[in-house]
Amino acid sequence: MGLLSLQGDFARHAEALLALGAEPVRVSLPEHLRDLDALIVPGGESSTMLRLLDATGLRGGVQRFVRERPVLGTCAGLILLARDVERLPAPTLGVIDIGAERNAYGRQVHSFTHDVDVAPLADTMAGMFIRAPRITRVGRGVEVIARLDGEPVGVRQGLAVAITFHPELTDDRRLHAWFLGDVAGLKLRAGGAVR
Ligand code: GLN
Repeated sequence: MGLLSLQGDFARHAEALLALGAEPVRVSLPEHLRDLDALIVPGGESSTMLRLLDATGLRGGVQRFVRERPVLGTCAGLILLARDVERLPAPTLGVIDIGAERNAYGRQVHSFTHDVDVAPLADTMAGMFIRAPRITRVGRGVEVIARLDGEPVGVRQGLAVAITFHPELTDDRRLHAWFLGDVAGLKLRAGGAVR
C-alpha cells in the first residue's frame, strides 16, 4: 500500500495502515510506485505537494497510477485528485470530476471536528477538518460517499476516493478498512492484510 510521502501527514496514515495489517510503502521517487496495490495521497499543503511531484519526477508515474489503480486522497490529497481547483501553481492530477475550493471554511473555522455521514459505512464518524477544502461541483459519474450537514465532503469515481477530512487523525479505522477492502480489494484478516 503506497503512501505519497513528499510532504504532509503521511506518517499518521502509515499508523492506520499498520493497525489494519497493511504494509505502508513510502513513495517519494518514481521507482517506489512499482508493485503497489493502491496509493494514499495524504493531507498537507497541496501547492507544495504539486511542486514536489514535478521536482521529484513523480508526476508522470503518479498520474498513470491514479488513472488505473485504487487511490485515496485526504484533504490536500482531494485537491490533488480534483479536476478543477483555482489558484494552484501547477495542474492537479484531475482524476475525479469535481471542483474544489481550498481553505474554504474561512479563518474563524480554520479547523473543527464534526460528525460526518459516511454512506459505505452506513454510519457517522468524527471528521477532523483542518483548513479543509470544499467540494464545489460534483460531476456526473461521481458518487458522494460522505456528507457534512448534507454537503458533500467525500466522493468516489471508479477506484478513486477523496475526502476533505482526516480519518488518519482519529483512532477510527473504518474508512481506511473500507478503502483497503472494498475499493482496493485487499483481503483483510484479523491482524494482517494479504498483499
Ligand atoms: N489547506 C491545505 C491546502 O490547500 C489543505 C489542508 C490539509 O490537507 N489539511 O493544501
